[in-house]
Amino acid sequence: MKSKIVVVGSLNMDLVIRTDSLPRMGETVIGKDFAMVPGGKGANQAVAAARLGAQVAMIGCVGNDLFGNKLVDTLQENHVDTRYIKRLDDVSTGIAVITVNRGDNCIILDSGANYRITPEDIEACVELIAGADVLVTQLEIPLDTVEAALKVAKQNGVQTILNPAPAQKLDDGLLGAVDVILPNESETELLTGIPLRDEDSIGRALQVFQEKGVAESVITLGSRGTAYLSGGEVQFASSFPVKAVDTTAAGDSFVGALAVRMAQGAGIKEAVHFCNAVGALTVTRRGAQPSLPALSEVEEFLR
Ligand code: ATP
Repeated sequence: MKSKIVVVGSLNMDLVIRTDSLPRMGETVIGKDFAMVPGGKGANQAVAAARLGAQVAMIGCVGNDLFGNKLVDTLQENHVDTRYIKRLDDVSTGIAVITVNRGDNCIILDSGANYRITPEDIEACVELIAGADVLVTQLEIPLDTVEAALKVAKQNGVQTILNPAPAQKLDDGLLGAVDVILPNESETELLTGIPLRDEDSIGRALQVFQEKGVAESVITLGSRGTAYLSGGEVQFASSFPVKAVDTTAAGDSFVGALAVRMAQGAGIKEAVHFCNAVGALTVTRRGAQPSLPALSEVEEFLR
């Protein structure tokens, strides 16, 4: 039987254009290589988990427009159940306008429909959530919706993962409903108030999460891999050495992979090893969703 995962989160269309120089106010510059790339942390994590073999349903919201259609189609192509994605006529789908200039990004984000998913929408999906093994959510949708989703999952004995991205302060009530928190370095610093300088400070940050009532915490450290607590001890798991070409969606692939392994009952150490492999494969390819690996590729990589 496939493990069942529900993702509550964002869908965005990334509109990417490369330029040799950025325009000043009132100026037009010539761009090139335009690409329309499906993204949004929620959608990326849903696709990541589905490619790794899980049965995934997504709860989210898009506008009734071209981008919303394309985002939902892409999820369906990846076998994600899209029946719980709301469509609204009076708001546009979430859009990120991204200019890439010499490897750096400038981004303008209009969250659009992502901010119209409500706690009432979660209440309407209680049966779906109660039937899942794991619920995954992030912070690109309203906080009260995130909290409602975590609480409905906990009340029904469903394991919860929070990827606290983009970084923002959270109250202890919300954190108390999280089984595993999965931040990157900057998110960890904002949530704990501890600058991550060395192994000692990473260990202290992990302890802070535990004191806030989160059962498990895993900090992703980019090319340095991952840190987590196991039996009260701080553990580090190195990343796999690969040639990184684009780190977009590395974090999202890791979150999707952790959901899959948790749903299968894996312990944190074994799960983190698998997730590091998924993250490593993701950075060897360009783009967000196009770079997410299939289970067979991960198994081959770990052989
Ligand atoms: P992004 O916002 O780019 O999606 P993130 O900041 O959320 O990423 P990272 O901590 O950068 O997440 O990366 C997540 C995981 O991906 C790491 O823990 C690691 O397993 C893997 N990873 C990232 N960069 C590399 C790399 N250069 N080489 C190998 N593995 C990597």
